[in-house]
Amino acid sequence: MTNDIFVYVELNKNNNIRPVSLQLISKAMQLKTKLADSKVIACIISYNQDWESISKIIGNYGADEIIIADDEKLSLYNNSLYPEVFTRLVKKYEPSIVLLGATTEGKEIASYTSTKLETGLTADCTGLDISQDGKLISTRPTFGGQLIADIMCRTLPQMATVQENVFGFEIKNNNAVIIHENIDLSNIENKVELLSSKYKDSSPSDVGTSKILVSMGLGAASEKGYKLVKELSDTLNAALSGSREAYEKGFITKSQQIGQTGKTVAPRLYIAIGISGANQHLTGIKNSGKIIAVNKDKNAPIFQHSDIGIVGDLYEVIPELIRIIQADNKEE
Ligand SMILES: Cc1cc2nc3c(=O)[nH]c(=O)nc-3n(C[C@H](O)[C@H](O)[C@H](O)COP(=O)(O)OP(=O)(O)OC[C@H]3O[C@@H](n4cnc5c(N)ncnc54)[C@H](O)[C@@H]3O)c2cc1C
Repeated sequence: MTNDIFVYVELNKNNNIRPVSLQLISKAMQLKTKLADSKVIACIISYNQDWESISKIIGNYGADEIIIADDEKLSLYNNSLYPEVFTRLVKKYEPSIVLLGATTEGKEIASYTSTKLETGLTADCTGLDISQDGKLISTRPTFGGQLIADIMCRTLPQMATVQENVFGFEIKNNNAVIIHENIDLSNIENKVELLSSKYKDSSPSDVGTSKILVSMGLGAASEKGYKLVKELSDTLNAALSGSREAYEKGFITKSQQIGQTGKTVAPRLYIAIGISGANQHLTGIKNSGKIIAVNKDKNAPIFQHSDIGIVGDLYEVIPELIRIIQADNKEE
């Protein structure tokens, strides 16, 4: 077993590297400084990509080595092949730490690999560090978000998944060594035949990438409340998101839910409307630039985490906010 850190690099539907992968490489570079004789190894599985450009981007964030598994059968994500290919690479390179994004793909691969290698996996981490004796410390909320636990794994490799935007980016400009791996796929049972695929149209104001998020909670969960929140987000050209309560009431989709069991976001501005500020929600917004909260309860916990707090009934406050912003837009 080496002291190396393996990072799974995931491509999105446009074959761009997902931000979480570059954030994990940046974090792995920090962890590496606490591990003797350690390398950061990025691992990418796909087919016929512009490997030169992709490797340059990965190298910019500091990976020492980039392992590429390139095969026609790997042109699209396939949950029979990708997890097995990744597991074989982990076995071959023997890293002591394996990190993946807590995306649908990352979670699927991570659980397969940890089961196959009979090792521990900490999911949805909010922090990673190295202990004095060189072990991975994975931090994550537990007991419904009431406690934050530092989890250490007794087995190797130590595996963790991390949500997008938990960590930032750091440019290192490394000249990474590129290794092309020829994996023999003929002896992997492919249980999935992909007949066709169609991507959902992504909105220009995607929750994960939007600079402004207007977020609704149970306090705004009515037809009238939703209309107001939507109008405010349209006026600000923002994305609409919400709390788990807003999701459970059917006003937003799961991919719009922010928090421990939803997305972690890092917008420049987060506007929380009718959201109380439960720990499980706050976990998802702690990397926001500024937070504005609108709540009729002056003791709502969200105000302790806000840069601007407006105590008032959202049905009065939001129309007024929309009016002011629209008047401002007209003047410009
Ligand atoms: C394991 C676990 C995971 C969880 N994961 C998540 C998660 O990912 N995301 C998440 O959000 N929650 C999550 N939760 C749920 C979380 O604990 C809270 O229950 C939830 O965040 C509360 O949502 P809320 O703030 O919308 O509703 P509430 O807590 O009910 O707050 C509603 C707020 O609206 C205000 N309000 C009401 N009417 C008005 C009005 N007219 N004008 C202005 N303000 C008004 C009220 O004063 C109140 O503060 C999780 C819970 C558990 C146990």
